[in-house]
Amino acid sequence: MKVKVVINGFGIIGKRVADAVKKQSDMELIGVVKAHQSYSANIANELGYPLYIASSTNKEDFLKAGSKIEGTLDDALQMADVVVDATPDKVGKANAEIYKKYKNLKAIWQGGEKADIAEVSFNAMANYEKALGKKYVRVVSCNTTALCRSIASIKEHYNIKEVNAVIVRRAADPSETTKGPINSLEPALHIPSHHGPDVRSVLPDVNIQTMAVKAPTTLMHIHSIIMKINENASAEEILKIFENAPRIRIFKENDKITGTAELIEYARDLGRARGDLMENAVWKEGLNVVDKTIYYYQAVHQESIVVPENIDAIHAMFEMFKDKNSSIKSTDNTLGISKN
Ligand code: NAD
Repeated sequence: MKVKVVINGFGIIGKRVADAVKKQSDMELIGVVKAHQSYSANIANELGYPLYIASSTNKEDFLKAGSKIEGTLDDALQMADVVVDATPDKVGKANAEIYKKYKNLKAIWQGGEKADIAEVSFNAMANYEKALGKKYVRVVSCNTTALCRSIASIKEHYNIKEVNAVIVRRAADPSETTKGPINSLEPALHIPSHHGPDVRSVLPDVNIQTMAVKAPTTLMHIHSIIMKINENASAEEILKIFENAPRIRIFKENDKITGTAELIEYARDLGRARGDLMENAVWKEGLNVVDKTIYYYQAVHQESIVVPENIDAIHAMFEMFKDKNSSIKSTDNTLGISKN
């Protein structure tokens, strides 16, 4: 039996998760839900994704634009086993009341919602097993996902004493033309930035502090990470861990990938849909270990990094795979990001 999935919110994250669900042989995309008419309603129609609307009040807008609508959110939820909420920050909280009306419906929220919306804040590498059989799960944000992936892979081999990370955040996604800054760097003044506590919602025993600076770019974030461990390690050993970890891609100096622009070009050249790079990008030469302290950079494609985690969250909630490695392997194969 296939798990029946509804995607509520067909924006940056929702449209990618919908594509990913379509690629799973054990899942069925019941439909995608839109609140406001826009070109993407017609895209959903063209892709053959059944289109539902959040409320019937603006049905006329959709019909006037020539969109074919199957019904409302409630109609879609009646047929679903799980709803993936990919609506804007804080809208998901209001939607929780709607989802709870359906006794057997499970729900996944994204990182724009607070941790207390769900039973578990989730990252596949870091705490897959915690989401097994759960009804309500939150897939953490793009930055938190990338931090959890690399921290969890090192944590499997070493005792981590302390992590400090400085995050250079993209100011907006490429399509968000009204957001800024466009010519300024803006530090997050409250320290730690929200990312550190968010990592602890997944990895409660990791002592992490974070700072963040918003930068006028739309492509990716970059993290500078300083991690103290209790044992001796070499840069080669840490590199090997990252090379063997799923969803971490290593780039070398002679690849001539000097920054985020070439990383996105690289993903485009690989033929990745939308130029998505769902893996953490780590530079080999940008990684070092000095006095039991690991230093590394990682770049994060905010638009796509959480997509595989949403598929793994469904796997865990329906106990389709009992362990993280089997789930990650299956997800990565279907999404074309497997290392093997
Ligand atoms: P988005 O604005 O691109 O998409 C949200 C979509 O939901 C839009 O199409 C909007 O019209 C629609 N919408 C608004 N109200 C709705 C409602 N009541 N019902 C149904 N649809 C509604 O947002 P996004 O960037 O995809 O973010 C979604 C979630 O994912 C947020 O929690 C965000 O924090 C998180 N997230 C975003 C990114 C990112 O970089 N974009 C990365 C990781 C996680």
